[in-house]
Amino acid sequence: MSGKTILYVEDNEFNRKIVRQLLAKTTYRLREALDGEEGVASALATPPDLILMDIQLPRMSGLDATRQLRNDPRTAAVPIIVVTSFALSGDEPKATAAGATAYLAKPYSPRALLAKIREIVPEG
Ligand SMILES: [Mg+2]
Repeated sequence: MSGKTILYVEDNEFNRKIVRQLLAKTTYRLREALDGEEGVASALATPPDLILMDIQLPRMSGLDATRQLRNDPRTAAVPIIVVTSFALSGDEPKATAAGATAYLAKPYSPRALLAKIREIVPEG
């Protein structure tokens, strides 16, 4: 079984656990990175089918990481869903400007996240 690979860049263990449980019921394969630099390095080393990118990250913000991945031919075409904790922060235009494919503001339901993932990278 070769599911599509999702790289989740998120420093918050609670959020990672939720997404881990969410994707466990699907054919997607999950990879995790705990900060922006690790996320960029992981994505460039082995480009995934989709990236879920938190904005508030240690070492390098999710927006800077997204910009960097967009500017590298290895990951320029990889879809990136940017997620943020601050619905009213005005992050959406910044995420779009950085090259995000889609944007999701917390709190979002795991079901909404999975629907968004499936819309961009169909399972199977
Ligand atoms: Mg965070």
